[in-house]
Amino acid sequence: MERIKCLIAGSGPAGYTAAIYASRANLSPVIYSGLELGGQLTTTTVVENFPGFPEGVDGTLLVDNMRRQAERLGTQIRTGCVTKCDFSARPFKIEIDGNLTVEAETLIIATGASAKYLGIPGESEFRGSGVSACATCDGFFYRKQDVAVIGGGDTACEEAVYLSGLCNKVYMIIRRDAMRASKAMQQKVAARENIEILWNSLPKEVVGDLKGVNGIKIEDKLSGVQRVVPVQGVFLAIGHHPNSEVFAPWINTNSEGYILTEPDSPKTNVAGVFAAGDVMDLHYKQAITAAASGCKAAMEAERFLADN
Ligand code: NDP
Repeated sequence: MERIKCLIAGSGPAGYTAAIYASRANLSPVIYSGLELGGQLTTTTVVENFPGFPEGVDGTLLVDNMRRQAERLGTQIRTGCVTKCDFSARPFKIEIDGNLTVEAETLIIATGASAKYLGIPGESEFRGSGVSACATCDGFFYRKQDVAVIGGGDTACEEAVYLSGLCNKVYMIIRRDAMRASKAMQQKVAARENIEILWNSLPKEVVGDLKGVNGIKIEDKLSGVQRVVPVQGVFLAIGHHPNSEVFAPWINTNSEGYILTEPDSPKTNVAGVFAAGDVMDLHYKQAITAAASGCKAAMEAERFLADN
């Protein structure tokens, strides 16, 4: 069975930064990329808040540069998902894609987070044919049409602004009378004439027929009145949940599934297993904070291997 000194699960900024540090520390890291190579950055447009890029940088390019940097320094990057693990003894046993088991002396969990869905009628039926959680992936299919974006955070604003450049009209459906998004993002939304904000609106159903989606039913939270807003596309932007399920039998998480680590440390409750990035970050969830925690995880993995 193959034995890996430092296995990294996940290929976003946390995983690649861990790989860059682990490579330079001669840990011969191996990344298993997960389902979404590059992680969530590949679904954004311009990243304006990653230091070092005064004009901003395309999210996919940024994470691809991280991949190239990790590879140049010696990281092996493989396609595959962790499907099972056994942390009862070291080296840990890690199953990949249900058919290959490798041994890992240390593991860095950097599996990030995935988009949340609402669970309303019509949502799963039309997923992929009118319902999406990624405007940059699917927005193209709704050119010159009307769409709705659900949510009022930074992601929703980013998606709405992006879609407003492609679509005829964008409705933002927000369940409160205020947005959670940063002021900068709210200003970008306000500057777009074809974005209309529907406040205090609860999404109730995605409506459609054999041809696809033709509306979203919403309820006015104050009056209780329901109506269907005619749209051909519905984009979910209501946050993410951490991809920690596969590790949960061994690793302590909070009630939402975020991996719990020691204070100001990537150490989990299992010695030799570290967590970095959005899978353990309840508060910040930024590319730069994910990268920083990946760095810490690799440094701790190096120390752990030196001590053991
Ligand atoms: P957030 O958790 O920040 O926002 C989620 C939004 O969805 C909120 O408006 C929330 O409403 C709404 N929502 C949640 N559940 C429901 C529901 N069941 N029905 C209707 N609405 C719902 O998630 P984001 O993905 O926007 O952002 C996550 C993190 O990533 C944040 O820290 C953000 O700052 C960051 N980010 C930064 C970017 C940047 O800097 N360029 C870009 C994108 C994200 P409510 O407010 O009522 O809870």
